[in-house]
Amino acid sequence: MPKHFTTPVACYYWARGRCVFSDEDCQYAHWDTGNTASAPILLSGSTQAVAGRAAERQLRLPDEEAVREKVKELETWEKNLLVRKDLLRLREEALDHRERGLVAREEDVAAREREVWRRERGL
Ligand SMILES: [Zn+2]
Repeated sequence: MPKHFTTPVACYYWARGRCVFSDEDCQYAHWDTGNTASAPILLSGSTQAVAGRAAERQLRLPDEEAVREKVKELETWEKNLLVRKDLLRLREEALDHRERGLVAREEDVAAREREVWRRERGL
């Protein structure tokens, strides 16, 4: 309890003249400790107000470690995408190659067919 901290924390409400709890029941100190609790805040999605360290903890921005972790995750994702892009390009090239081969064979067959017709008509 904040009133039992090494440096006791004085009650925010008591410091402003009115606390609904008795000196005993309030978890904050009802005496001048030189360190008064900050105003309780109500976080969205919560019905309970929090103050002091609890509030700081919940309001804290993502810490360095979490940010580094996220950066690493994105870099891995990017690397994987580049690899997939390379593989896709190779498959496209292979398809183009096959397509060009088929076009060449088609032209060859058509030319031989024309040659056969010409010879048949000449007989
Ligand atoms: Zn109090």
